[in-house]
Amino acid sequence: MADEFKAILISRDEAKVQSVDVVTLTPDDLMDGDVDIAVEATTVNYKDGLAITGRSPVVRRWPMIPGIDLAGTVIRSRNEAWTPGDRVVLNGWGVGEVHYGAYAGRARLKGEWLVPLPQAFTPLQAMAIGTAGYTAMLCVLALERAGLVPSHGPVIVTGAAGGVGSVAVALLARLGWHVVASTGRPQEADYLKGLGAAEILDRAELSEPGKPLGKERWIAGVDAVGSHTLANVLAQTSRGGAVAACGLAQGMDLPTSVAPFILRGVSLLGVDSVMAPRALRLEAWDRLARDLDPARLDAMTTRIGFDEIVETAHAIVDGRVRGRVAVDMA
Ligand code: NDP
Repeated sequence: MADEFKAILISRDEAKVQSVDVVTLTPDDLMDGDVDIAVEATTVNYKDGLAITGRSPVVRRWPMIPGIDLAGTVIRSRNEAWTPGDRVVLNGWGVGEVHYGAYAGRARLKGEWLVPLPQAFTPLQAMAIGTAGYTAMLCVLALERAGLVPSHGPVIVTGAAGGVGSVAVALLARLGWHVVASTGRPQEADYLKGLGAAEILDRAELSEPGKPLGKERWIAGVDAVGSHTLANVLAQTSRGGAVAACGLAQGMDLPTSVAPFILRGVSLLGVDSVMAPRALRLEAWDRLARDLDPARLDAMTTRIGFDEIVETAHAIVDGRVRGRVAVDMA
């Protein structure tokens, strides 16, 4: 049938054992929404890896088509904001968690979740950015709102060779920051310098339990790692600095003390991309179009096809993916 499309479907049996299958669906199988989209590109984020491998309870409705990000073209709309032919981007809003997601030829979504595909990007480039890159931009915006500028001192990026980290390094370097890139993959030093990192820090220096306060080493931070790493980043942030926290690659815990906050006036800035309001999303995508060097985006991106999504999902939770992955759904 002409309307049929392939999708990845995650299911659970009565014993809550998870299975992942490639299935053929029709538009009638999709969930409620007022805009139908032909999915042209998607990506594999850490969260998609958690959903497909079942390592964390990302999926909260069963069965589920995973995939939290997509770019594509509107093919049907009952929402006055969108008409067929419009090119759109979707990040988050629970898509791929509680609403059928991106790993399908078609998606049916709520129009208010969508933003226009920036003219600067093709669908594949937008997905090379994806939630990871848009979150990196939200972190940069949070640091800017805290009043921090490159002349104040260095910025540290943790999980630097990962998706959020790679985009954060490229953005901050382009904006003039002296970027300290923390990574557990010393073999990626040249890669990170190519993205604009000025210094490479072995993540082992940050990942073990540390002191409540340490030597002041940076004025700002983008942390994708959490746990002891974030605690040590805070303990080594200079007076009046701020750290944007968005991730938990090391752990959900935060074994810190109030010392950095009350003795150095350091701020911890929480960043959530999933439910970020539309105005902030538009601002972030607008800034990505201006501030992300397309050559550096290209350098951090691996392109794959639909058939490689599941394998890549396993690789990303094992820390084997460098930078970003863009999935060509064509
Ligand atoms: P990636 O897997 O691409 O990157 C994570 C990086 O963290 C790895 O590449 C690695 O970097 C580092 N890392 C992994 N395990 C450990 C560990 N045990 N200890 C220290 N460092 C570690 O994931 P993403 O960049 O896509 O996402 C990063 C985090 O941000 C995830 O936790 C994700 O869930 C979260 N996130 C949150 C969002 C939000 O809205 N708040 C949105 C997007 C992502 P290296 O090899 O350089 O050491």
